[in-house]
Amino acid sequence: MEISVYSLGSGSKGNCFVVSDGETNIMIDAGLSVRATVSKLAEIGLRIQDISGVLLTHEHNDHIRCLAQLSTYLTVYSHGDTLSAVSDIDGIRLNSLKAEEKSFELGDFFITPFSVSHDAVHPYGFVIETEREKLSYVTDTGYISKGVMKAIDGSDIVIMESNHDRELLMRGWYPERLKRRILSDKGHLSNEETALAVRDLAKSGTERFMLAHLSENNNLGELAYWTTSRLLRSAGIKKDEVTVKVACQRETVIL
Ligand SMILES: [Zn+2]
Ligand SMILES: [Zn+2]
Repeated sequence: MEISVYSLGSGSKGNCFVVSDGETNIMIDAGLSVRATVSKLAEIGLRIQDISGVLLTHEHNDHIRCLAQLSTYLTVYSHGDTLSAVSDIDGIRLNSLKAEEKSFELGDFFITPFSVSHDAVHPYGFVIETEREKLSYVTDTGYISKGVMKAIDGSDIVIMESNHDRELLMRGWYPERLKRRILSDKGHLSNEETALAVRDLAKSGTERFMLAHLSENNNLGELAYWTTSRLLRSAGIKKDEVTVKVACQRETVIL
């Protein structure tokens, strides 16, 4: 079956995705409350025990809110340093962990982690493949390096952070230090940076995109969508050639 993507919630307040081929269901990040996670899973016809494992990108709070509880039932896969960092956070005890630095199999999926640039101990993005399709997940990165582009090239589906509108961030109320952190190489991708990467990926054949991890204060869904769509159109890529969806904090979005 074709890969489906479910954003159960995505943004500064919590991130959780499910990737499914109809047989194997994988969760990426566990940044919602247990209650929200269970009820959002039920909305898409799944229970915790239907999930084969949790891929963890990094240890920030918006990615780990219910990780400790989920790890009672599910194995958490990430870089060893990330798993140690989470275990060092007060009150968090992870039960079932697996440190991964190379490709590994999880049900029907073949998973390859790759490094991204973010102010965390060892942040990951993931390539998730079946025999027929390739999906890439890239959020929480200050920029898209050549290495990342190479890892995700040839994807059918890409979930990519479109965190902030540069103008809104610069004119907004955030303290200077926080603005600098977000804009830095170890911060987050702006709509403009994401649009450039999406354009290049679309040119090399990616057909389905989900823009994710939008800032609540420095972005709007319409703005992220418009910035990417405008660049796609100016590169001659027509609306019916690619699908672009925008993940949001509260509603489940399906791609
Ligand atoms: Zn982060
Ligand atoms: Zn985050």
